[in-house]
Amino acid sequence: MSGEEPTIIDHARYPFTKQASEKLRQIGFKLEDFRSPEEPPVARARERIEKSAKPLKEVKPPEIFQGSEEYELLSFPLALALAKAVGDSYLWRRLALYEARVARGRLEAEDPGKIVKIAVENFGWKLSFNGKSHPPFRLHFADYLRNASRFREEEWKLVNQRLAGGYVQLTKERVVRLLEEEVKRLIQSRIERAPEVEVPEPLRGLVEELKAFYAGVRKVLSREELGRVRFEAFPPCMASLYFDLSGGRDIPHIGRFTLTAFLINLGMPIEEIVRLYVSVTDFDERMTKYQVEHIAGLVGGKTRYRPLNCGRMKTHGLCPREEELCKRVRSPLAYYRLKVKQLSKAGRPGKT
Ligand code: SF4
Repeated sequence: MSGEEPTIIDHARYPFTKQASEKLRQIGFKLEDFRSPEEPPVARARERIEKSAKPLKEVKPPEIFQGSEEYELLSFPLALALAKAVGDSYLWRRLALYEARVARGRLEAEDPGKIVKIAVENFGWKLSFNGKSHPPFRLHFADYLRNASRFREEEWKLVNQRLAGGYVQLTKERVVRLLEEEVKRLIQSRIERAPEVEVPEPLRGLVEELKAFYAGVRKVLSREELGRVRFEAFPPCMASLYFDLSGGRDIPHIGRFTLTAFLINLGMPIEEIVRLYVSVTDFDERMTKYQVEHIAGLVGGKTRYRPLNCGRMKTHGLCPREEELCKRVRSPLAYYRLKVKQLSKAGRPGKT
């Protein structure tokens, strides 16, 4: 892809590109051609989905061995099709995040020409590279904003960039980070917009296994990440914010504030809350720690904040639905405490 025609290894490394899609068309990719979960592309697709359940910090681009390039390429649309068939939007977001993170890991090791080519040809970026300037990449501010506006850190704000003639000057690391956002959105929308998938008979069992796997992942992630806090006692609003966060969805500032305040008020240690944010997204660790400590009243104005009450949650569109128990409370915290009592009475004591 650096001036020459892309090779099968390029397609396998960057299967989301237009050229890779064209290659798949040439190969004649069809889901119904796969007859067993043991076939290498299917097994690899399964692996892609299973790996997407891991915390983002653990994502490393897998090696592509000589001779396995075509399997690797085929496994990408297969993984997307299987995810669609599972029908779990949480899985879709995780898979898009995982694939985008793998792409980022690979792009970090690429020469600048290839990065520019991928960005221009696939996402229409106005991006150029000049090795003599520092930083060496120039990206049109509209492309910059479309992706960087999702980042909360001050260092990404447009006012803090070197801007000349409508172009932002960027390091390779930053360009690749912005590309990761594009790749994530592209993959997520591909899964969301894909028509319903008719899974061939021999792969139906695999889809059921993946359904069960991801249902289990939700529980385990909650248990591991939340420690002593009891996820099963979360009200629908906090469960939804939590899963949006862990699924990589960009939740509004007020949502992050109220979820953090909720976790602090349940007694979750600061380090665990910070770890939760940093392991499931790539928020800046130092900044996240400061913000969590601020909400906990340990720095700044020294006020320990409480999560929004139900009325304000509704005003901000953060109350997804009321459950029976919701009718008896006025705040998510009250819901949690009541639910813990109910669970304890029912013989399900808290974790130790
Ligand atoms: S009613 Fe209150 S506790 Fe229940 S989901 Fe809505 S905001 Fe949360």
